[in-house]
Amino acid sequence: MVDSHPQPAHEADASRGFGTRAVHLGIEPDPITGAISPAIVQTSTYVQDGTQSPKAAGFEYSRSANPTRSLLQRHIAGLEEGAHGFSFASGLAASDAILRTVLAGGGYVVVGNDAYGGTFRLIGQVWSRFGVAMTAVDLRDLAAVREAFSSLSGEAGEVLLWVESPSNPLLQVVDLAALAAVGHEYGATVVVDNTFASPYLQQPLRLGADVVLHSASKYLSGHSDLVGGALVVNDDDLAERIGFIQNAVGAVSGPMDCWLTIRGLKTLALRMDRHCDNAEKVAEFLSRHEAVAAVHYPGLAGHPQHELAARQMRRFGGMISLQLVGGATAARKLAESTRIFLLAESLGGVESLIEHPDDMTHLAVRGTPRAVSDDLVRLSVGIEDIEDLIADLDQALAGL
Ligand code: PLP
Repeated sequence: MVDSHPQPAHEADASRGFGTRAVHLGIEPDPITGAISPAIVQTSTYVQDGTQSPKAAGFEYSRSANPTRSLLQRHIAGLEEGAHGFSFASGLAASDAILRTVLAGGGYVVVGNDAYGGTFRLIGQVWSRFGVAMTAVDLRDLAAVREAFSSLSGEAGEVLLWVESPSNPLLQVVDLAALAAVGHEYGATVVVDNTFASPYLQQPLRLGADVVLHSASKYLSGHSDLVGGALVVNDDDLAERIGFIQNAVGAVSGPMDCWLTIRGLKTLALRMDRHCDNAEKVAEFLSRHEAVAAVHYPGLAGHPQHELAARQMRRFGGMISLQLVGGATAARKLAESTRIFLLAESLGGVESLIEHPDDMTHLAVRGTPRAVSDDLVRLSVGIEDIEDLIADLDQALAGL
C-alpha cells in the first residue's frame, strides 16, 4: 500500500537547496491553528463516516497509515530524491522488510564483507531458515562481485546486492554507481545502506541504486533518542510491494518517534556540516599523534578511496576509526578514558561517542573472517566545540 496522502505543492520544487528542503519539505503550518510544528497524531484508529467510507483524509488504522508517519515518509523520500518512503520501527526492521519483499520465495544476497554485523545476523541466522543464502565479498573488487554473481546457478531465485558505504568500522568507500551497474547486469535489486553518510552527503538512488536503507536511529534523527528505520525507492511496483509488507507485517514506527525524526531531519544539513568539520580536524590530529598507528577516515588524503569519496560524497562524514600503537590494551584504555567522548555503541547523535568494536559492536563476529582487529577504536564525532574534543582525546592518549 503506497502512501497516497496529498503532498503540499512546494514539495515538488527540487531546485531548492538541501538545507531549505530539510526544513520545509512536506511541512505546512496547520490551516486551522497556524501551528508551525506538525502534529503528533497519537492515535491507533480513526472514526469513519460510514462502513465503507473513511474521512476524506483516508486514514483507518495507524498500522496502515498515520499522518505523522506519512509526513516523515515523504520527508525522507524527498531528501533522498526518491518517490516513495517507508518508516519502520528500527533499521533492522527496514532491512527485514526489503528482504521479505524481494526474497520471500527464497533467493540470494551478495553483501559487502564489512557490512553492519546485524545485517549478517539477519540474513545468515534468520533468512537462511527461509531459503535465502549469502556470499560476502569485498565490494571494492568489482571482478569479485561479478564472480559472486556468475557463480550463482539459475535456480538461485531473486538476488539482492547489499552495499554499505562508508563501511563500519573501517570507513571503506565503494563505487556505488559502478556496483549498481554490475548488480543490474545480473538482474539484482541493489540496496544501499546510507546510514553512515545520510542523504546530505550522498544520494544512492541518483547513482543507480534501487533501494536506500537507513537506521534512522543515527544521523537522520540525530539525538540518540529513538530507534527507527527507513526505506526509499523510486519504482512504483517495488513501493507497492514494500507497502504491503509494511502493513501486513506491521513493524512500523510510532507517531512520537516519527515526529522526533522529522524534527531531527530539519537540522540534518547543519548537523552534518558540523560533524564533518569536527571529524576532519579530529582525523588530522589523530594522524599526527605518536600513539596512533593508523587513522581510517575518507577525508584524509592518504585514505585509499579518498578520490572516490570526494567524487561520490558531498563531504566525508563524522565517523572515524583508529588503530593504536599499544594494541588492544591501549585501545580499551583509550575507550575508557575519554570524558567528552562517551563510551557507548551507536553513532550519529549530537554527542561524541567512542567504542571498542571488538568488545562491543562487532563482538558477534569475533573469531570469524569478518572479525575486526582488537587494536581498533571507533569514534562518532559529535557537534561539540572542536577544541574540547581534541583536548579530550589528547588527555586520553597521553595516559596510554
Ligand atoms: N545499518 C547500519 C550501518 C547500522 O550501523 C545499524 C545499527 O547500528 C543498522 C543498520 C541497524 O539499525 P537499528 O539499530 O536502527 O536497527
